Amino acid sequence: MPILFAIMSGALFAVWHSFSDALAWRIYTAWYSPRRKEVKDKLKFVFGASSRCEFCEVKVPWYGLIPIAGFFILRRRCAHCSRLLSWRFPLLEACALVYGVAFAQHEPSPLYFTLTLLTYTALWVVIAIDYRMLLIPTEAIFALLVLGLFALLCIRHPHWYRFDNFDFGLDLSVAFLWYFLFHLLRIASGYKMGLADVRLVLALGFLLGHPLTIFLPGVAAAFAIIFYLLRRRSLLIYAPSETEIPFGVFLGAAFLLLNLSR
Ligand SMILES: [Zn+2]
Repeated sequence: MPILFAIMSGALFAVWHSFSDALAWRIYTAWYSPRRKEVKDKLKFVFGASSRCEFCEVKVPWYGLIPIAGFFILRRRCAHCSRLLSWRFPLLEACALVYGVAFAQHEPSPLYFTLTLLTYTALWVVIAIDYRMLLIPTEAIFALLVLGLFALLCIRHPHWYRFDNFDFGLDLSVAFLWYFLFHLLRIASGYKMGLADVRLVLALGFLLGHPLTIFLPGVAAAFAIIFYLLRRRSLLIYAPSETEIPFGVFLGAAFLLLNLSR
């Protein structure tokens, strides 16, 4: 039974990643990309449209939507305009599959599993758009804050209103400590860091709780350092700016990793 659950969780996360990535790309296209003015009915575009080729806009056939395998069935090309598809699709779907299998090891409750899927989508919107253009949509931060408060007040500490739980106090303290330290860091860096990154730390702090939140900025910084060391070796690795760091991307990745070590 645990093996079956792990396989199902892995498959679900791979499909869910594919959905989240498409959603992030549509939100980017409708509100932030150079062609945003061409998209008239934005909500219909984001939620109603079926998956299309990023270049020629022709509908992707159903078998092209199968996570990982779809990429190889299509032989890496759009069937209509024959442009090459990016390796990021199967690679990230494979990562999501491994993530789902690893996450299943914690035997999460159905409520916690659902919360994690919703968190994944909001976080992927943050990661994908911050990586493209150094910008974090406020709506995604708001969604993560709501999810974080739900995790804190309804899942981890359902009797929080008694205010007699030391762990609840620690969860709040650690989240707010990083929030204030990130404000200071933002000022000290000459506002090189966005306000959205500061808010993101608070939301992720609520979601993770102590003691994992303590490690969040450190792991994110380690990811950022590794990324820029790799980038120095290969300019093929895309970065949105030479001077500013898309810290939301690294905070998001650090959260996903730490969330596994619960
Ligand atoms: Zn195409």
